[in-house]
Amino acid sequence: MSGLKRNDIQPCALCHKGLMAGNQIAGYRVKIDHMLFDPGAIQRAHGLEMMMGGHVALATALGPDEALAQEVSSSTALICQACALETRVSLAEVFERMGTASESGERSDDN
Ligand SMILES: [Zn+2]
Repeated sequence: MSGLKRNDIQPCALCHKGLMAGNQIAGYRVKIDHMLFDPGAIQRAHGLEMMMGGHVALATALGPDEALAQEVSSSTALICQACALETRVSLAEVFERMGTASESGERSDDN
């Protein structure tokens, strides 16, 4: 992982305050990938595992080893230490809140 330069710094995605508000010296850069599972691929992998007597490694080595889930969307945001320690929200809610900050995350990934 790379460091944060001035242009990478954005307000906390949860409280929208500065990352160092209250003299905090730590924060988190979080990336959440929203994944969609593929029931057909999972069924095929499971079927092959059954044919191999339950040996997952053998089935994986001999089969197509296809993706069992695909990324639907991805978001990266900065979270201040206070929110990371004190805020209780569902992961989906965090992902939704990160939507407004995802542009900054994508921009930093491009650098
Ligand atoms: Zn915060």
